[in-house]
Amino acid sequence: MSRNVSKSPEVVGCPGDVQDEVCVVCFRPVEVYSVGECDHPVCYECSTRMRVLCARNECPICRKEMSKVVFTREVIPFVSIQTRNMHYERRYAIFFENEGVMRAYDFLLEHRCKACDDMPVFRNFTQLKDHMRKYHERFYCELCVDHLKVPTFQMRICDYNALRKHFRTDHYLCEEGDCQEERFTSVFRTKLDLQAHCTQNHSQNMTKQAARQARTVDIEFTLNPRPQDSHRQEERGGRGSRGGRGRGGRGGRAFFRCPIHNFIKTG
Ligand SMILES: [Zn+2]
Ligand SMILES: [Zn+2]
Ligand SMILES: [Zn+2]
Ligand SMILES: [Zn+2]
Ligand SMILES: [Zn+2]
Repeated sequence: MSRNVSKSPEVVGCPGDVQDEVCVVCFRPVEVYSVGECDHPVCYECSTRMRVLCARNECPICRKEMSKVVFTREVIPFVSIQTRNMHYERRYAIFFENEGVMRAYDFLLEHRCKACDDMPVFRNFTQLKDHMRKYHERFYCELCVDHLKVPTFQMRICDYNALRKHFRTDHYLCEEGDCQEERFTSVFRTKLDLQAHCTQNHSQNMTKQAARQARTVDIEFTLNPRPQDSHRQEERGGRGSRGGRGRGGRGGRAFFRCPIHNFIKTG
């Protein structure tokens, strides 16, 4: 893969440059290209991720809808590609230059254990996940798995300590009370989810007043009242004017203190 027609001459560099081409989407060296009508090659991994896992067929560069693409080791203009005798994946409208390229695509979508020497294949992700846990004590982050839509082999696996650290830094982890012992279920994708969880599960530890305040905060946050609604807050005891909420103007940001965790949240 020494040449790539998509690059302008000044970018290609000096002759004899043997560096692998890099995918413009993921910045990794490209082994197999995906080419469509608009002739914007990306790597087959990015293309597979888009078409198969995200069900989106547009070109990631120009957004043109690509009714079909060809996976090939050499970048050549799309119009000159003869697809007639190629293997074809009908469901995702992908042609494969040859069997090797098709195997690479299959490999990408398999659920293989990276930690075993022989990299066994599992029928589905759940089986692989169970195997990881039982035999390697390694874990996937379920929130990321649901959200990121990447091929299984690209997903991060880690031991429990690293997973917990990841929960803390990249998601919203509750470590109140019993939740400290919870290994997987006390982590949330959004602040709002965490807050709802706290109100529901930890309010027995609060004083009645704090609990009522937590519920009120919850309601106010959800309704997100406009300034002209502020007299209603006063009827409820004027909390709004005492800085429970910031006055951020029209539908402004909500600032409030979580009564359980005692930290400031912004909405
Ligand atoms: Zn890529
Ligand atoms: Zn394009
Ligand atoms: Zn294994
Ligand atoms: Zn995650
Ligand atoms: Zn909790």
